[in-house]
Amino acid sequence: MMRLILLGAPGSGKGTQAVFLAERIGVPSISTGEMLRAAVAAGTELGNKVRAIMATGDLVDDDTMAEVVRERLGQSDAAGGFILDGYPRTLGQADTLAAILEGKDWSLDAVVHIEVPEEELIQRALARQRADDQEDVIRQRQRVYRQQTQPLIDHYEAQGLLCLIDGHQTIDDVAQSIASALGVSR
Ligand code: AMP
Repeated sequence: MMRLILLGAPGSGKGTQAVFLAERIGVPSISTGEMLRAAVAAGTELGNKVRAIMATGDLVDDDTMAEVVRERLGQSDAAGGFILDGYPRTLGQADTLAAILEGKDWSLDAVVHIEVPEEELIQRALARQRADDQEDVIRQRQRVYRQQTQPLIDHYEAQGLLCLIDGHQTIDDVAQSIASALGVSR
């Protein structure tokens, strides 16, 4: 049973790897980006609140995200472990997560950081561009990642939780590297 965070810039393959790994270890992959996109599509109160900010590539505020994640981790399937994909994204969110976990007497097993050089990230992001993705939004997401999410790497490294993975490999090789690093058998 594992409680993991996957960290990686937009285009690092983090979402894909989260789904693979979740399947392999039998825990839910919790993607806050997907949850928010679903809320926007469904036109819920949350969706209406976050739609505009998401469209710019900026981050939804920490308080809103705290509510989303607290609620999601309270669902029964998270009790057997989980992979967080896209949360936390700021130091404030990392503190909130620590408080949520502490309240449940849970701890993190590892924080997996998938590393890919920035220029390759931009190329990948442009290649898989969705209809609603503009190049300036893609670049803004990279900027936000660098400024707000990158500090989490040092934060978790200091806690001895960080697990560095070379993301400049095929999808299968990245998956295998993550599994080996976590000691998860094939
Ligand atoms: P993602 O699919 O993880 O790249 O998320 C898509 C968008 O949802 C991001 O660009 C943010 O606007 C928003 N979002 C997702 N997760 C978070 C989070 N943890 N904190 C703030 N905003 C988020």
